[in-house]
Amino acid sequence: MKELPKSYDFKEVEEKWYRFWEEKGYFRPRLDPRKPKFSVVIPPPNVTGSLHIGHALNNTIQDILVRYKRMDGYDTLWVPGTDHAGIATQNVVERELAREGKTRHDLGREAFLKRVWEWKERFGNRIIEQLKRLGASCDWSRLRFTMDEGLSRAVREVFVRLWEEGLIYRGDYIINWCPRCHTALADIEVEHRPTPGKLWYIRYPLAEGQGEVVVATTRPETMLGDTAVAVHPEDERYRDLVGRKVRLPLLGREIPIIADPAVDPEFGTGAVKVTPAHDFADFEMAERHGLPRVKIMDEDGKMTPEAGPYAGLERFEARKRVVADLEAQGFLARVEDYEVMLGHCYRCDCVVEPLLSKQWFVRTKPLAQPATAAVENGFIRLVPENWNNLYFDWMHRIRDWCISRQIWWGHRIPAWTCEDCGKTSVAREDLEVCPECGSRRIRQEEDVLDTWFSSALWPFSTLGWPEKTEDLRAFYPTSVLVTSFDILFFWVARMIMMGIHFMGNIPFRTVYIHALVRDEKGQKMSKSRGNVIDPVVMIEKYGADALRFTLAALAAQGRDIKLSEARIEGYKHFVNKIWNAIRFVLLNLKDFRPRELPLEELPLVSRWILSRLSYTVERVRDRLEAYEFDQAALAIYHFFWHEFCDWYIEAAKLYLRGEEARKATQEVLLRVAEASLRLLHPFMPFVTEELWQALPHEGESIMLAPYPRAEEFPQDPEAEEKMSFLMEIVVALRNIRADYNLHPTREIPAVVLSEKKAWRDLLQAEAPLVKLLARLSELEVREAGRPEAAASVVLSEAEVFVPLSGLVDMAQELSRLYKEKEKTEKELSRVETRLNNPQFLAKAPSEVVEKEKARARELQEKLQRIQENIRRFEALKS
Ligand SMILES: [Zn+2]
Ligand SMILES: [Zn+2]
Repeated sequence: MKELPKSYDFKEVEEKWYRFWEEKGYFRPRLDPRKPKFSVVIPPPNVTGSLHIGHALNNTIQDILVRYKRMDGYDTLWVPGTDHAGIATQNVVERELAREGKTRHDLGREAFLKRVWEWKERFGNRIIEQLKRLGASCDWSRLRFTMDEGLSRAVREVFVRLWEEGLIYRGDYIINWCPRCHTALADIEVEHRPTPGKLWYIRYPLAEGQGEVVVATTRPETMLGDTAVAVHPEDERYRDLVGRKVRLPLLGREIPIIADPAVDPEFGTGAVKVTPAHDFADFEMAERHGLPRVKIMDEDGKMTPEAGPYAGLERFEARKRVVADLEAQGFLARVEDYEVMLGHCYRCDCVVEPLLSKQWFVRTKPLAQPATAAVENGFIRLVPENWNNLYFDWMHRIRDWCISRQIWWGHRIPAWTCEDCGKTSVAREDLEVCPECGSRRIRQEEDVLDTWFSSALWPFSTLGWPEKTEDLRAFYPTSVLVTSFDILFFWVARMIMMGIHFMGNIPFRTVYIHALVRDEKGQKMSKSRGNVIDPVVMIEKYGADALRFTLAALAAQGRDIKLSEARIEGYKHFVNKIWNAIRFVLLNLKDFRPRELPLEELPLVSRWILSRLSYTVERVRDRLEAYEFDQAALAIYHFFWHEFCDWYIEAAKLYLRGEEARKATQEVLLRVAEASLRLLHPFMPFVTEELWQALPHEGESIMLAPYPRAEEFPQDPEAEEKMSFLMEIVVALRNIRADYNLHPTREIPAVVLSEKKAWRDLLQAEAPLVKLLARLSELEVREAGRPEAAASVVLSEAEVFVPLSGLVDMAQELSRLYKEKEKTEKELSRVETRLNNPQFLAKAPSEVVEKEKARARELQEKLQRIQENIRRFEALKS
């Protein structure tokens, strides 16, 4: 039998086994038609990314599920891949160019794209390598990229079909625009922040007769693009004015006063300006009233010729000039301070402008309806289910999806416009001539598709669609999607829409939504706070197993995960504990011969550990099926550490001494150890493989061994009840030892009283075990008759005594306790003085105050314990 080194070198082991698994092709599905299927697609990380703690959690959970199902007899596929991440990647390369003093325009589109591809080839695989370090058992032979050939074909097919079905259109639309990045932004890409601003009240004189309407605005320069003034239809103040006209200050244009229920009579004066080309609500109001849209600002954030004398001015300069002119000409009624919610670009932090622009859209309502129904009818289950309401709410409020982006890196829109006939054609293959008129003077659309467009197809495009592949047949719909909630709408909802529309079936049956990983105080991790925990550094320091187990053990549903390095270090101890336990088992298997388990002949403690294992297996499986990874991890942890190591391994030492008992105990030790490793494998793949290979085992790899079943081990409630009783006795004796400061290695006598004959018989029968575990010199069991001068603990069905005469020098012990009491009181009084000092409370950081308070509580508790002990010794002395 192989002997294990004393301490565990995870670095060498992790690398060795990952290579072994990959070379053996264990990550690939067998494509065995008799086996049930389990499939997962990875949420594709950005090619620009490197593994952060959120990825580590997300992929640990996926790997736990995939390894569990693979061991449990499923033909399993985990499809990996990366996302081209439009703006993010383009920005990285543009920054690189900027260092060379160039812009993408200097290179031109083609050369720039070549440069991005080169960047991707060089750096785009970093995160893949990091996922391997984590132990992810993805099928790397099926690695995909959202811009690879197959996926690009899927994107084009989807675009063309949606166009043919009338679900893609081109139109004017008001969008969020970043004048610096020069692109449309999705709502989620705009960060709204409260910012101190102003509310300007502007007089609009009536076109005919006397009088005026005063409107309030936070963006006065947009008044140049006003095409109406609106009031609420029931607003008495303006009833007579509706239908009349006002003259637009500075430009002199006449515009109507309209009534619309969307106007809030409480805002400003109750009359608002309507600027359809530069405001979302106004755009919609203009649609309802057929108002013209006047675009006074362009894509660079400069004023257009429509802005008259302000044409060419930069937007903030224009604001200053407009306000100055309004004031000079007497149109400015008043100005108030006002807090505005200002939108900022998530990439460059520039102030975003709502802007009218020609964009491509997906008509979303017809796609959203079946996607909503799929969740309503339970075909797709969101876990935890409290996300349902948010999902439904989003789906009901859904707007058409603006899919065009004004960048170069991405799927270029397959539409060509003819310079001769003016028609736009969409095609599966690149066009050379206009299909309408035969002209060769055609131009392809410059825009590319929103990155989410290709990720929306991910569950079927990665399996080979639009080809009818074996993978699609076998693995679609996928089993579960593991994701965080922040992309529930932008990604998950759209995959559901596209999956149902193009596959006629949902893309996944379950969506497991995990929490966000925060620091130990619950704060978001960020570079500026300096509280980032880098998973790659953690893997280097503690090993992937420790990191994975920590993340799983903290992954309670619906709660933010509070992570600290100390936790990971803590679970590294667990890895060492496992190592040492299996090492002990191995050291005791030197003369081992496999044999049947003589169940009836096994000692109580062996029947107990097998039963505990069976219930633990049941619980772990049950919690994994419920996506309660923390509960599953803690069940294993508790069993392995607090039942197998703390009790069974200690008890086994008694039986390993015998002849027949030794053989049976070896068998139990091996079976429990081996099954525990299999149970643990999905959480800690590396150390379990290393140890499993060292134990006698069947098969090539623990990865392919069957996941334990509760039926493998007999459940024995009677043995459990008896062991609980014995363990209670042992714990009581250990507590007495601690209370009276009796050294753990010193043997002590004990007396147990119980009125129940069954318990007395049990104690007699198991006396050697109890004596071993509690380190007793003798154990006396009685029905009645409390011993003199003894420490005691009362249990529900027994009373436990340790006669102290001869064991403890009462006087010496008492003097020690009094000294300790004095010391503790002094320290407590110091801490309390500090806590009663108002200056300390006012000036010290709250963590320091909290720490002092905790210290005070600790000292109070300690003092209580000491006093309790003094009382005990005084009582015994008398
Ligand atoms: Zn920007
Ligand atoms: Zn044409």
